[in-house]
Amino acid sequence: MKRAQVTVPLDIPDVRVLQTEINKVGELIITIESTKEGTICRQCGREIHKRHGYDEWTTIRHLPVFGRPSYLRYRPRRYQCLECEGHPTTTQRVEWRESNSPHSMAYDDHLLLQLVNSTIEDVSTKEVVAYDCVLGALERRISASVDWWQYTSLGVIGLDEIALKKGHRNFVVIVTARLADDQVAILGVLPDRQKDTVIEFLRSIPERLKRTIHTVCCDMYEGFSEAVREELKHVRIVIDRFHVARAYRGGLDDLRKQELGRLKKELPAAEYKLLKGSLWALRKKPASLSPEERRLLRLLFRYSPQLKQAYELQQQLTTIFDQHLSLAAAKTKIRAWIKRIAQSGLRCFDSFLNTLGRWWYEILNYFVNRENSGFVEGLNNKLKVLKRRCYGLFNLKHLFQRIFLDLEGYRLFAG
Ligand SMILES: [Zn+2]
Repeated sequence: MKRAQVTVPLDIPDVRVLQTEINKVGELIITIESTKEGTICRQCGREIHKRHGYDEWTTIRHLPVFGRPSYLRYRPRRYQCLECEGHPTTTQRVEWRESNSPHSMAYDDHLLLQLVNSTIEDVSTKEVVAYDCVLGALERRISASVDWWQYTSLGVIGLDEIALKKGHRNFVVIVTARLADDQVAILGVLPDRQKDTVIEFLRSIPERLKRTIHTVCCDMYEGFSEAVREELKHVRIVIDRFHVARAYRGGLDDLRKQELGRLKKELPAAEYKLLKGSLWALRKKPASLSPEERRLLRLLFRYSPQLKQAYELQQQLTTIFDQHLSLAAAKTKIRAWIKRIAQSGLRCFDSFLNTLGRWWYEILNYFVNRENSGFVEGLNNKLKVLKRRCYGLFNLKHLFQRIFLDLEGYRLFAG
């Protein structure tokens, strides 16, 4: 019985199809020849047209067709240069395959689209292609560093330190730009947060783009702030409110530990047990507390009025950051808050007050435009997932390429 057939265009420029067949394992083998004439001499760079036979037959992976893997099979043409000494020959370069790639460019792009928000293992399994072949596509098609020509303006830059592996001192710094349309773009991955490392990166930004940066969002590290002050003199430094909140939450947490230690000694064991889970209850937003957590906090606060006071003060500061205040209004409110801390007699915020004093302007700068690095909002979670998925991310170049692909892959490779 004759099976129904369809004809599909190959959509590769400058080739002729000589033969198509389906091999024993059901793969489609398409034999083609290039109809393009000439190539560029590998030695002198001139265009050459003198034919000089063929290379060996080569077979490269191409896009799947109706669920079948497909391959292009062809003999690359060779050309001879009559100008260069010794008349060297050059294999013809074609637009649809990068030299020595085992894939057509279309197949590389297909793999990269599969790789967006996924893992190399996963794509390798689904496509039945070796791990290194997927990695090869990433290395061929995604640049290992930023292409500055892509951007006309940068606006807000984020410097964010992330730990690559929990419990290890394996930190890298992710540099992002929050572009005008709220898109986050990755600009670089730095090996550490040292001032010199950051300066070196900032110097690599072309002058025309440096002028378009108006804000840098970062954490409270001298390496960041000093590098920015030296290299981007006109720029406003903003401490991400996320980092500020982490610092004052730390104060409350210290007091909680201290108070629970006291209560463990003073309370009967059964009563003390009821206070389990207080860490998370204290960290949650009041509005999202469950009824049990509310009861837990009420109990805890009855035993520790100090903790209640500290908790309320912490909430007040969060509220200040939540409000759309002018810089001047925020300054007044935060000064009043500091006064209340002093009157309370609490010492648990001492370290935070110190930090607040040292980074006063940078922390207050948040109220100018309420900016953050965008990384903190969007990319941080993405990266957490990426880290879980890939244990091969200790290569900074690959990390850059994977983040770039996750951010831009759909735009670049989907249609
Ligand atoms: Zn030549």
